Amino acid sequence: MSNNTKRTVAIAGTGLSAIFAAIRIRSQMDVNLLMFDKARGLGGRLATRRADNGKFDHGAQYFNLSELKEIPEIKELIDSKIICSLENSDKFFAPGGMTNIAKFLLEGFDIKKQHKLIDFKKNGHEYILNFENTESLACNDLILSCPMPQTIEILENSDPNYLKDFMTDLSILEYEPCIVLMIKSKNKLAHLNKELGNLYEGRNISWVGDNSLKQVSDVENFYTVQCNENFSKENFENEYERTNDLLKTELETIFGDGYEILSNHKWRYSVPKNFYEGDDSLIIREENFIGLCGDIFTNGKFSGAIKSGISIADKYVKNGL
Ligand SMILES: Cc1cc2nc3c(=O)[nH]c(=O)nc-3n(C[C@H](O)[C@H](O)[C@H](O)COP(=O)(O)OP(=O)(O)OC[C@H]3O[C@@H](n4cnc5c(N)ncnc54)[C@H](O)[C@@H]3O)c2cc1C
Repeated sequence: MSNNTKRTVAIAGTGLSAIFAAIRIRSQMDVNLLMFDKARGLGGRLATRRADNGKFDHGAQYFNLSELKEIPEIKELIDSKIICSLENSDKFFAPGGMTNIAKFLLEGFDIKKQHKLIDFKKNGHEYILNFENTESLACNDLILSCPMPQTIEILENSDPNYLKDFMTDLSILEYEPCIVLMIKSKNKLAHLNKELGNLYEGRNISWVGDNSLKQVSDVENFYTVQCNENFSKENFENEYERTNDLLKTELETIFGDGYEILSNHKWRYSVPKNFYEGDDSLIIREENFIGLCGDIFTNGKFSGAIKSGISIADKYVKNGL
């Protein structure tokens, strides 16, 4: 806890909803902001990985901004060329990689990485946050932006009473898993480049994105392959080697025999299967505020995560007035 009289609000996560919650609270209130994430990098499901001198977006691929283009932070992202529209449409992508969006927007914020919140305990007017790495930090208020099963686990570990009135609505919320492969191909798949990649139906592979076309990778022929929900679910616990073997025929159909799998990733919570219907975010407690946000409160997409972050920030500010 800081030694001044300002309130400290802690935000779990550095994905889009957490980013917009933080920015909006900081612009409207004089509080100490404490941001942390269990991951090594920023951005949550905005994720870019380096491999073999190239780069891959292995989470969100592109996004629609129709209603959000007038938001000042989005304008800044466009003016700074962190994001670009596809042929002046409402469809946007991030040259340099999706993670750059988080890095750009979070510049100047003090963020603790590799801090996985396990639980928090009430101590007078504070919460003591306990992390997996055995550190503890204090705050007055808390916003959780983690995927819902992770948020529920934290709340249950802390005090099951927090969930008393909300469990029926929150415990039914689910996400699809997604297995992702990062592939270097010998051949350029020009026929795949319908917009920024290609969608497939009726196969285990559902999407192949072109990281060179998106200017994410300077090296050509770096492709992100996403598997569909059913295949991802059935094979989620497999070793990557086994999964890659199962996909061999499909991969050869797409890439020929000249491809190399450079890396894999498993998203246990990729996109929501169903949504919270009450509002764009949720207050769990007003005094010593606890609020929840994330894409599951809106549309399960980039735009919805932003909306949810702004929604919880507005509620926090209003609650503090
Ligand atoms: C493979 C894939 C493809 C996608 N494609 C698209 C697309 O093309 N277009 C689109 O619009 N959207 C897409 N999405 C969805 C989009 O990425 C999300 O809607 C959005 O990024 C979610 O933001 P968020 O803030 O709600 O959650 P997240 O980005 O998931 O942020 C939650 C954060 O909480 C952190 N966290 C979790 N537990 C803890 C803990 N205990 N302690 C501390 N931190 C914790 C996580 O590390 C994470 O950083 C895709 C997602 C995936 C995974």
